[in-house]
Amino acid sequence: MTTYLGTSISWRLQFLSAQRSKDPRTQVGACIVNPENKIVGIGYNGMPIGCNDDIMPWGRNADDILDTKQLYVCHAELNAVLNKNSADVKNCRIYVALFPCNECAKVVIQSGIKEVIYYSDKYSHKKEFIASRRLLDTAGITCRQYQPERRRVVIDFSAIEGRDHSESTSPAETAAVTELLQDVNKVSLSVADRV
Ligand SMILES: [Zn+2]
Repeated sequence: MTTYLGTSISWRLQFLSAQRSKDPRTQVGACIVNPENKIVGIGYNGMPIGCNDDIMPWGRNADDILDTKQLYVCHAELNAVLNKNSADVKNCRIYVALFPCNECAKVVIQSGIKEVIYYSDKYSHKKEFIASRRLLDTAGITCRQYQPERRRVVIDFSAIEGRDHSESTSPAETAAVTELLQDVNKVSLSVADRV
């Protein structure tokens, strides 16, 4: 994969990868981009390899925490780092839908990622996220909220064939997304193969 991409594509990819999550409530994606704007890792939240989605709990609340997903799910940030297709992710930035939790903040810091770009900080009042902010701030990781110019983006595949298109996706971008979607599918296939 040698495509160099801009911010908007990184967002689209983290969104598209999130849609592969089996989590019925929270579908979160993460996309890691290196300083040359090359995508080097994509992930979404899911059960660990070998832990069948159908037999693991997906609920958020239960009398016993053992019956919730909390103790089992690998978050998108962790999977994106582990799925990296480069030697490391030092000095990269990560695009995430939700501000990282404290466990993912540790992964971000230890992996050498230098910037977190998030869309929503809706859990900022929770202890895990207050701790996360503290960790990231102390470690000198830049965190900034993404302000989308549009709330809706359409990927226009007809642009590949040069047909008239009115959406924002250019033919080059569409070709890049098509190529990258194949990679996203490969990631999910390789995960499925190992389950
Ligand atoms: Zn997390």
